[in-house]
Amino acid sequence: MGQTSLKIGSSLLEIVQGDITKQDTEAVVNAANKRLAPGGGVAGAIHRAAGPELWAECQNLGGCETGEAKITGGYNLPARYVVHTVGPVFNNTLQNAKDLESCYLNSLRLAAENNVQSIAFPAISTGIFGYPLAEAAEISLRTVVKFLQENTKPERVRFVLFGADDLQVYRDSLQKIAGELK
Ligand code: ADP
Repeated sequence: MGQTSLKIGSSLLEIVQGDITKQDTEAVVNAANKRLAPGGGVAGAIHRAAGPELWAECQNLGGCETGEAKITGGYNLPARYVVHTVGPVFNNTLQNAKDLESCYLNSLRLAAENNVQSIAFPAISTGIFGYPLAEAAEISLRTVVKFLQENTKPERVRFVLFGADDLQVYRDSLQKIAGELK
């Protein structure tokens, strides 16, 4: 079954199955491309659900580099903010892991700077960008756990997995990481 949540200080990390566009967290993270344009996968779904005003705002931001993050409004989404971050295109280099870690770290920093109390992440880079899911799960969970050990905000960090198999990989990874903390 794996582990579905972990309390870290006063914050909660949780793993759920669902659609990132339906999350009621204060912010949702977009697995964006460098132009911050609507496309396929998460980015397409977020832009469709948020409406054309999101793309209008994104066009004024000058794009986004791999591993960096930018924040916009959420428009027609339940979330008040969208944090856009560009994951690495997987090519099996050490830089991939560093860039993926930067995505989570820079998104969390930007959220904390904007006083965001709750944020939901998709599995960045694991779709079109080809990052192996188990490796991405371990990097993303470790990065969030470390951030929450060192910061009091956000109070809630949610990982939203689209499929049941992906959910299982994340929950098994969290169980392993939680075991190491004991
Ligand atoms: P990337 O280009 O960073 O790989 P993708 O959008 O292609 O981003 O996919 C990232 C992950 O998000 C994949 O695991 C994919 O299955 C998942 N995904 C796709 N659509 C949604 C959605 N609406 N909500 C949550 N996760 C989604």
